[in-house]
Amino acid sequence: MIAQRLAILGATGSIGVSTLDVVARHPDRFEVVALTGHRRLDVLAEQCRRFKPRYAVVGSTEDAARLTATLADIGTTVLAGPEALCRVASLPEVDAVMAAIVGAAGLPPTLAAAKAGKRILLANKEALVMAGSVFMNAVKAAGATLLPIDSEHNAVFQSLPADFSGDFARHGVRRILLTASGGPFRSTPTAELANVTPEQACAHPNWVMGRKISVDSATMMNKGLEVIEARWLFDAMADQIDVVIHPQSVIHSLVQYVDGSVLAQLGNPDMRTPIAHALAYPERIDAGVAPLDLFAVGQLNFERPDFERFPCLALAYRALRAGGNAPAVLNAANEIAVEAFLDGRLPFLEIPTLIAATLDAIPVAAADDLEAVLAADVAAREAARALLP
Ligand code: NDP
Ligand code: MG
Repeated sequence: MIAQRLAILGATGSIGVSTLDVVARHPDRFEVVALTGHRRLDVLAEQCRRFKPRYAVVGSTEDAARLTATLADIGTTVLAGPEALCRVASLPEVDAVMAAIVGAAGLPPTLAAAKAGKRILLANKEALVMAGSVFMNAVKAAGATLLPIDSEHNAVFQSLPADFSGDFARHGVRRILLTASGGPFRSTPTAELANVTPEQACAHPNWVMGRKISVDSATMMNKGLEVIEARWLFDAMADQIDVVIHPQSVIHSLVQYVDGSVLAQLGNPDMRTPIAHALAYPERIDAGVAPLDLFAVGQLNFERPDFERFPCLALAYRALRAGGNAPAVLNAANEIAVEAFLDGRLPFLEIPTLIAATLDAIPVAAADDLEAVLAADVAAREAARALLP
């Protein structure tokens, strides 16, 4: 078997660690060529010792010097900075790139992987939210392959016809149903949300994830970003994507067909399932995930999302319908708001207020190239920072 050669961007994070867990179960199938981290140098050093990549990338030249010294006996070349991320994402000796950096920082290297025609395992939803048309055009132009890691989109991908072209009518697809757990505050009285702490917001009932996406799940902005992500991945219109609250997180999403059929993908809430699916696609490999025990699950429940309780979801639909630079503005304002909330500088309920005010402040404009997307990102960050208490 010829091993698939991997670059794992964001290796030190939650998705990165799960990816390496799956990779380690199949040493004959995968070869790790590059690993990247940002601040967790100790984790990256340990990963390099174990997987012996040719390259490692960190945030600063000081950290690169430190890691080089630590890894002197291994022969890993340590690089630093955003350019180096783009470089390892497009190396000729890399077949597939796991895009698992959190936030806007992941856009340039993920786009570099697309332009280099790689097989992209996309976890970094923010890249697609910010630069949907730019990114999808780059994927098409270079003949790159895009495989969704986000559990909902991976479920939709598995539930669509294998030859799905994006033409809903031709394939008899009526709509996409994205499931949402509702996060830790699904049934908390709104009055109690005013004093929510970062620790409470990050304590997700079903999934263990990085802090940013955990807060996004608590505000349901995560689902909003996922609606926009689905728009680009599956060429869907805003009104072809619905959100269904499903507290058990067992059904990861569904596709409704015109004949009345509804196909879904189920499994335990463990990101190693979509990661293994995308790593091996179109084959199937062991992910280390326990088999789903339906008798233990017992019940599957569904509720309508409450757009008043979770204004972030409505804001995401607003940005999607506005188009152009609006999703990039939404994403940037959300990143500033979440960071401020995690630092204790912004109350939980002010997160949507700040995002709405930022959307109001930046006029909607076209965003057909990377420059326009990045300009919207910078302008929105400035506007959002100026609105912080
Ligand atoms: P984590 O916070 O756990 O990990 C983020 C990774 O990105 C780390 O490796 C971190 O490095 C790196 N990183 C952070 N900032 C920068 C930067 N400025 N430049 C380069 N690298 C950086 O996040 P998750 O793994 O939870 O999420 C990663 C992505 O996957 C997000 O886009 C998220 O929305 C998406 N996703 C995650 C899911 C999950 O279950 N966790 C589910 C679905 C999607 P370091 O830690 O060394 O500082
Ligand atoms: Mg998801």
